[in-house]
Amino acid sequence: MAAFTSTIAESMNRLGTETAFEVLARARALEAKGKDVVHLQIGEPDFDTPSNIVEAAIKALKEGWTHYGPASGLPELRLAISEYISETRAIDVLPDEVVVTPGGKPVLFYVALALLEPGTEAIYPNPSYPIYESVIRYTGAKPVPVPMLEEKNFSFDISEIRKKISPKTRLIILNSPANPTGGVLSKQDLEEIAKIISPYNCFVLSDEIYSRIIYDDAHYSFASLPGMKERTIILDGFSKTYAMTGWRAGYGVMNPHLVKAVNRLITNCNSCTTTFVQKACIEALKGPQDEVARMVEEFRKRRDFFVQGLNAIKNISCKTPQGAFYVFPNISRLGMKCRPFAEYLLNEAGVACLCGVTFGEYGEGYLRFSYANSLENIERALERIRKAVEHF
Ligand code: PLP
Repeated sequence: MAAFTSTIAESMNRLGTETAFEVLARARALEAKGKDVVHLQIGEPDFDTPSNIVEAAIKALKEGWTHYGPASGLPELRLAISEYISETRAIDVLPDEVVVTPGGKPVLFYVALALLEPGTEAIYPNPSYPIYESVIRYTGAKPVPVPMLEEKNFSFDISEIRKKISPKTRLIILNSPANPTGGVLSKQDLEEIAKIISPYNCFVLSDEIYSRIIYDDAHYSFASLPGMKERTIILDGFSKTYAMTGWRAGYGVMNPHLVKAVNRLITNCNSCTTTFVQKACIEALKGPQDEVARMVEEFRKRRDFFVQGLNAIKNISCKTPQGAFYVFPNISRLGMKCRPFAEYLLNEAGVACLCGVTFGEYGEGYLRFSYANSLENIERALERIRKAVEHF
């Protein structure tokens, strides 16, 4: 009998990963050996889920919301989401245009599977959330990066989109407020993008998972631009806004044709999103919002403190991010690549962060710190970074 060899599909080599979890594992290994580490690598709010949402989940469990539900979500949650998106994006959205998923991430995966294939192309920001490039590659489509520039406040170089779009482009991914830069795309930039893509038959996936964590301007969605709703998929969810990362609850708002395709993928994969979690999501959207405002205010204090502290360190400069909960300082004047410096910070200084290149090649020269951590810990991290820089 031939020896068993475990053969993994070739396509698996095209799937990437999220380094934050790897850095967390390495930090934990150091901690197990007695090292003190300040964790600024992971993108999840450090607050508890608001108690009204927790209570709603408990109530739903007790009422027996513990069975399968419809693939695209409970009708009452789809209705609540359609009302919320209609109001916040100033567009008319029907419940039939909403798909509920276990987190915002599956929207990315399902939409990529539904739209992309070999011979097609997808434009995406770089640096950006690493899952974009990963899922594009997985489908066999060509990933086409467009640089996000510090000198443009981490917005697109619009002329690059003009150069790179083609009849093969089936999808353009936008993310505002953005991970990892905290950059926000202005209405003017979005209008320019709309003008460029209008003659092309391509969809836009607008990742708005940080839409409520924005500090100065109100959030503006690509879907709100005249004529753009039909071709836009809004990705949003509960993870960041309501500190619900572990609940796994998100949604996509999209053209009903695409809803059908995504539904079929859901039926083949996760069947539905946890039913009692969906009941709690209705409370999240319809209940009091003061906890969200409190979290954003707390993030703002930390952002201002962190940015000021980083700019006071020699050879580091940091723009003030307009949204999300990340700072993305420029460390290129240190004369060292970002990966070894991030490793040095973790192993020697005890500060866990991510290097810019984990978000794409244009992230070289930057680090990403999450400020979903206490002011005290940010202060400790700043002191450690300052000492590490002096050492160089
Ligand atoms: N999009 C971006 C830009 C993110 O940073 C994240 C999570 O870090 C997600 C989507 C996925 O969020 P969720 O936890 O709801 O799947």
